[in-house]
Amino acid sequence: MMRILPAALALTLLAGISIPAQAKVSKACIADIKKTVKRAGVKPSLVDTALDGAKFNEKVVRFSRSQPEFRTQIWDYMAFLVDPARIADGKANMDRHASTLAAVENKYGVDRYIIAALWGIESDYGQIRGEFFLPHAMANLICANRKKRLFTRQLIAGLKLVQKGDVRLDDLYSSWASAFGQTQFIPETYQRLAVDFDRDGRRDLVNSIPDALASTANFMVKAGWRSSEPWGFEVKLPKGYKGPSGRKRRASVQTWAKRGLTNVDGSPLRSNYSAGLLLPAGKSGPAFLVTRNFNALYSYNAAESYALAIGHLSDRLKGKGPLVKPWPTNDPGLTRAQRLQLQKLLLAAGYDIGEADGKIGPITIGAIKKVQAKAGMKQNGRPSMAVLKALGG
Ligand code: CA
Repeated sequence: MMRILPAALALTLLAGISIPAQAKVSKACIADIKKTVKRAGVKPSLVDTALDGAKFNEKVVRFSRSQPEFRTQIWDYMAFLVDPARIADGKANMDRHASTLAAVENKYGVDRYIIAALWGIESDYGQIRGEFFLPHAMANLICANRKKRLFTRQLIAGLKLVQKGDVRLDDLYSSWASAFGQTQFIPETYQRLAVDFDRDGRRDLVNSIPDALASTANFMVKAGWRSSEPWGFEVKLPKGYKGPSGRKRRASVQTWAKRGLTNVDGSPLRSNYSAGLLLPAGKSGPAFLVTRNFNALYSYNAAESYALAIGHLSDRLKGKGPLVKPWPTNDPGLTRAQRLQLQKLLLAAGYDIGEADGKIGPITIGAIKKVQAKAGMKQNGRPSMAVLKALGG
C-alpha cells in the first residue's frame, strides 16, 4: 500500500501549507489526462463523464503537500484510534455481522477481531465515505505534478473497476490519495486483492460488507498472516533492560524469557514463536513482543503505530482491558469525543473555528495555540488533555 494515514486521522492531524497560484486544473491538462486514460483502455464515454467538470480543489493539493505540524505522539494516535466509542461500535458491528465474520475467518484463517479492527480504523466500520470524487482528485494531483505516475495509475485502475462493473462511478469517493471503500484500498490494491464474497458477481468494497471484510482478510493472507500466532502482546521488561529492541530484531519468545522479559502480569513467557520487542515510547512506556503478524498489519499501512492500534483494538474487541503500563506523558491524548468537546469549548470561549466537527484542521490548531499561549504552555497546536482542561473541560 502507501504511506498514508487512515483517512479519518489524516484529515485531523495535517496542517495547511499555502498553495502557489499556478496550481490550477487547466483544460489542456484535463485533455492530456483524458487521452492517457483512453489510451490505457478505458472507454471514452466513461473517461469524459468521469473527468468533465474537474475543477481545482485546493484541499486535495494542500493535503498532498501537508506536513504534520507536530510529530504525532503515539499516545495521541492511540487515544484517537482506540477510543471507547470505536470499541463499543466494534462490538455492536461484530454482533451484527457475526456470521459473515465467522465465514471469513473460516475461509482465510485471519482472526475475526483483527478483521473487525482493520474495518473500524479504516472506515469506522463503513461509516466514513471518502471526501473527494476520485477522478477529480486524481486530476488535481496529476495537474499539480504530485506523484503524477502513481496517481495516473490509480485513476486508470479506478475507472477500470467501474468499467468492469465492480463499483459505480458515483461510488468512487476517496481520500485525497485515492484510498476508498470500507477497506480504504487504493485502486491498484483493489484490483489485485478484492474478492466477491457475497457472490453477486461484483467486488464491491463500498456497499458490500461481506466483500469488504473478505478482501481485508485476503490482504492479510497475502501479507503473510499466520493463524497460529497472535499479532503480539504487552510484556514487562526487567529492571534496567539493556538488550535489543525493534520490530525486525526477532528472536524466539524463549530467548526473550532468558533476557528477563515476562508477561505483563509478571508470569513467565510460554510460547515459542519468533517475535521482536517493540518499544513505541522507549523503555519507560509500554513494551510489546510482536510477531510476523504484526508485520502483516504494518504492510496495510506502513507505520508501527498503525499496526499497534489495530492489534490493540482487536484485543479490546475481544474483551481484554487497556494497556497495563501507562504512556510516559503527563499530558495524555484525546479521544474523538474529547476532540469534539475541545472544539465546542473553543467556540464557547469565542474562538471562531467554524463548525465543531471533531476534525482538528489548521483553524482549530491556530486556536489551540492561542489557548496554549494564554496558559503559558508550549504553543504547538496539539489537542491534548491539558488544553481541554485549560478551557474548563
Ligand atoms: Ca459482491
